Amino acid sequence: MSEKGVPLVEPHLLDLYRELRNVTVPAEKLQTGPVAPEIMENWESGIPMLYCHPPQIEVENFFEVLEEISGILKQYHPDRSEDVDRILAALPAGAEARSKAVAGVLRRDGEWLSDFVSEQDLPEEMVGFMVSLTLRPFLRHFSAQLRESLGLESWRKRFCPVCGGHANFSRLSRENGARTLYCSLCETEWPFARIACAFCNEKDQKKFRFFTVDETERYRVNLCESCKGYIKTIDEGKTPFDEKIELFWDDVKTVHLDLLAMREGYENKIAEIPAYGEEVKN
Ligand SMILES: [Zn+2]
Ligand SMILES: [Zn+2]
Repeated sequence: MSEKGVPLVEPHLLDLYRELRNVTVPAEKLQTGPVAPEIMENWESGIPMLYCHPPQIEVENFFEVLEEISGILKQYHPDRSEDVDRILAALPAGAEARSKAVAGVLRRDGEWLSDFVSEQDLPEEMVGFMVSLTLRPFLRHFSAQLRESLGLESWRKRFCPVCGGHANFSRLSRENGARTLYCSLCETEWPFARIACAFCNEKDQKKFRFFTVDETERYRVNLCESCKGYIKTIDEGKTPFDEKIELFWDDVKTVHLDLLAMREGYENKIAEIPAYGEEVKN
C-alpha cells in the first residue's frame, strides 16, 4: 500500500479502513458458478453481473460479517455505538426474514433498507453505511471471481459491470491518458470515455471543469454542471513512476476532496442506482 503525498487524512481513518478491508469472506461462503453463454449475452447487453448472475451468499455468513463490521465501527466511533447496537438488535430473527433481508440488500434497490429503517425507526444513514460496508467484502470477492472472464474493454458504461454501482473514482493512465472508472463497492475498474460525465453521460466539454488542491496535481475533482455530479480522479502521469497505485486507498485518502466538492454543491452519486434499461438503449 502506498501512502505518499497525502497530508490531509486523519490517521485513524486509514486504520479504520485497513481493519474494514481485512474483513474477508471465505471462498466456500460465496458461490458464483460458471457463466453460461446466455448469461454472458445478458451482461453484454448491459445488465451487471450482480443482476444477471447473482452469487449464492450464505445468509448467516452475511450476518456474521455485519456483526464484525459493526464491532469495528463501534471501536472507531464509540459515539455511534448506541445506534449500531440498536440497528443490530432490530435485525430480523427468523430464518425466512433473514434470507429475505440478504436478498433485498443484494438487489441494491434500497427497498428492503427503507422498509427496515422506517418500520424500526432507525437512523437511515448509519444503516446504509453498515449495509454497504458489509456488502463490500462479498462484492469484492464476487468481482475477483468474475472479472477475468469478462471482456471489460467493451463495457464502457456509466455503471459497474459487476455490481451496477456508480463509480466514485477514476484514473487517467500514465501510458496514454486513457480513462477508467472505479467502483469502490466491489473494486472493479473499467474503461470509459475521457470526455463524458460518469453519471449523466453529458459529452459537451463546456459543461465540465475540475479543481485540484495538492501541488503535485496528483488528484483532481471533475465536476459536471449538467447533473452536479463529481468524481475524484488520479492522474497517474503526476505520480512517482515506481508507485503501485491502489485506487481503494487513493479513494479513502481523499475524503477532503469529497468534502470540498460537496461544499461547492456537487453530489456524490454513489448511492444512486443507475437505470440500466436506459443505458442499454443508448
Ligand atoms: Zn461494483
Ligand atoms: Zn453529469
